[in-house]
Amino acid sequence: MFSSGLKQGLRRIQGSVHRLLTADRLLRRCPPHLLVLGFHRVTEGADPYEETPPGLTCSANSLRAILEWIKDRYELISEDCVEEILSGRRDTSAALVTFDDAFEDFRVVSFPILRERDAPAVLFVPSSTEPLWQNRLWRAARYFSGKSVEFLGRKWRLDRERFLRKFLSECRRYIAEPPVRRERNKRLDEVVGLLEGGERSREGAARLGGKSLRRLAAAGVTMGGHSRTHPVLKGLKEEELREEVAGSREELEGMVGRRIEAFAYPFGDRNSYDEKVVEGVEKAGYRRAYTTVPEVLPIGEDVARARWEIPRLCVDWDENLERWLARKWVPAMKRIEGDR
Ligand SMILES: [Zn+2]
Repeated sequence: MFSSGLKQGLRRIQGSVHRLLTADRLLRRCPPHLLVLGFHRVTEGADPYEETPPGLTCSANSLRAILEWIKDRYELISEDCVEEILSGRRDTSAALVTFDDAFEDFRVVSFPILRERDAPAVLFVPSSTEPLWQNRLWRAARYFSGKSVEFLGRKWRLDRERFLRKFLSECRRYIAEPPVRRERNKRLDEVVGLLEGGERSREGAARLGGKSLRRLAAAGVTMGGHSRTHPVLKGLKEEELREEVAGSREELEGMVGRRIEAFAYPFGDRNSYDEKVVEGVEKAGYRRAYTTVPEVLPIGEDVARARWEIPRLCVDWDENLERWLARKWVPAMKRIEGDR
């Protein structure tokens, strides 16, 4: 019994060492590149499902392990160094650590971990203080006590995680659709109303207020724009787009008293922004923008073209170092492997 357990353990360690060595060989074969990591919430051991949708929380231990691994292989840079890369003044590999949505756990959990390792970071902050709509929706569904719900002429089961995920993605699409905020809020209220009892049962994950943001900025954290209320920017009416993009920059600059240069598109996948959005971000006075398209950015002749679409590799809730490497980093690196 003992020896077969021991053998299994040994095999696991061998496998893990092998995978890490393979990763290092892959790194040596790839051209210089910028690796941008994307985190949301980071918690010490709590249920990642409690307050925010799956995918948004990772454990403090994963953050530590990933940072240690990166730190041994990349130079960790601050956000303003990305300008040097985009303008061709820097051609060596680098890594940047980013956090979206400005949750309170950044101050309590992530910041001390970053500081201990001298890792600079960017915090992308939705400048409105109202609860983020997608978290309100998640909480309502997460704490809903019923087994199913009627929605858009269909009956949706909510008693299994995979059903819940499907239902939520349909709800998000439905709520984000109207180009006017009033209509979107009406739809949000409608859906939360269907999930009666859910939302009211819990407080949401706390977000950082102006005072904490000012302190973090003073301690060296770079602040970046992330809209005001976190809508899908693509398809918004022009006036709302301006309010969300330029408005968030003004609000955030007022809050922290610093120039804000970087922007991250809410959600950040290719369906969440288009040329019109990019134009709005540029017009608002931002200098660079980040997506969540899972790539690394090769630092070659074309690097300047990525100014408004800097890709990021996000870390999901169930990803420790090895899983993150296998799912995100290795595939992204393989795509640039031949570019050397
Ligand atoms: Zn976000």
